[in-house]
Amino acid sequence: MKSKDINIEDENSFLEGLRERLVILGGGESGVGTAILAKINKYKVFVSDKGAIADNYKEVLLHNDILFEEGKHTESKIFDADVVMKSPGIPDKVALVQELVKKGIPVISEIEFASKFTDATIVGVTGSNGKTTTTMMINHILKKAELNVSMAGNIGDSFALQIANKNYDTYVLELSSFQLDGIVDFAPHIAIITNISPDHLDRYDYNYENYINSKFRITINQTANDYLIYDADDQAIENWLRDNKTEAQLLPFSLNRIVEKGAYIKDEKLIIQTDTNIFTMSIAALALRGKHNTKNAMASALVAKLLTVRNETLRESLEDFESVEHRLESVFKINGVQYINDSKATNVNATYYALESMKTPTIWIVGGTDKGNDYTELLPLVREKVKAIVCLGLDNSKIKETFGNVVDFMIETAGAEEAVKVAYKLSEKGDTVLLSPACASFDLFENYEDRGRQFKDAVKLL
Ligand code: ADP
Repeated sequence: MKSKDINIEDENSFLEGLRERLVILGGGESGVGTAILAKINKYKVFVSDKGAIADNYKEVLLHNDILFEEGKHTESKIFDADVVMKSPGIPDKVALVQELVKKGIPVISEIEFASKFTDATIVGVTGSNGKTTTTMMINHILKKAELNVSMAGNIGDSFALQIANKNYDTYVLELSSFQLDGIVDFAPHIAIITNISPDHLDRYDYNYENYINSKFRITINQTANDYLIYDADDQAIENWLRDNKTEAQLLPFSLNRIVEKGAYIKDEKLIIQTDTNIFTMSIAALALRGKHNTKNAMASALVAKLLTVRNETLRESLEDFESVEHRLESVFKINGVQYINDSKATNVNATYYALESMKTPTIWIVGGTDKGNDYTELLPLVREKVKAIVCLGLDNSKIKETFGNVVDFMIETAGAEEAVKVAYKLSEKGDTVLLSPACASFDLFENYEDRGRQFKDAVKLL
């Protein structure tokens, strides 16, 4: 398919009668969605992608008469913009973005742009881990409560596209720090910060403070009518709230202490306390296992109560929410051994919670591309729960160094099938085989989904 470069004559006729010039950097899901929403709202739109634009997106652009280029950024066209929407995948550091900022041209994210065109109630979910699970859980509850709700952000069709084509009353948005870096006025009615631990520091000058501040951008435009739900057991979050201010009403959740308003645990029960309502439910009745999922359920239940979901509907939804693929996903039980796929655990904190939730002796499959991991916080859990480690990565030196003396068996493998076969041999009835790599997957796999699927396929072949 040919790209559709602007030619000046075309451009002049095309631009007549239109309003601001919007340049979109990145022709992926958020870029193309933004282009369509902008076109409907009479912007002069130009999409520019330095790489190739996927055929399906090109078709949409052509079909909607949206001008675009690929394989290059033509600066003269880009610097002509009144406003630029940058895809979250493009770092702020790149020269083109720096130049735009220098010229005073606003560079915003899809979420900022799209939110101007809707009056829907917005629930925004950010954090280092648990965003997808929590977003899907909230969406599940609100759907069961028959709200006209949809999910967007890093999930499914872009927020912008949904605003262009549909008419939802409520959106649950999964928001990465990169989306939040590009907001100006965006303010969710309900914001959630699931937790904060070091991640993506390469995009934040290797400064953890910058990353924390980026997560907290979710609350910077909130008013006293809005809510901030957060993990009160999280040191980084507590520190930020001690040293900074937000207008939003605070609703903490905690596994360790009782809070006046928010969510806490008492006698193995989850207690959700808002201004107007108290909801209780046994932890044992929650569909998803593990302390981290209890936290996700607390956050989700708080949203549900703020949006006045009935207790009965909330209880049912938390009981029947099915686990999300690649997140502590039960695969099979073979010869009394449970296989669990937690391929999405790409950092130490996610793996911490996976190990923490293990109830039987565990054969732990770990490794991959290390993002500067410090494994020491896993040591007590590994001592208590792990009987053997199967390394699944090209460079396993750090894992060997940290855990070599802690477990009886450690074996290196370089593929999912081999790892599963080795784990099978090491396991006995009553054990669990857990893939929870604490690392990215790019040394041996395309991405974490590919790693998870290959793991599941290998288990099926046993
Ligand atoms: P995200 O979208 O933030 O990456 P996911 O819901 O996809 O989060 O989960 C990523 C990984 O983190 C999975 O291994 C999952 O089991 C684990 N996880 C889920 N919720 C939490 C939480 N609240 N705290 C820590 N880890 C979590």
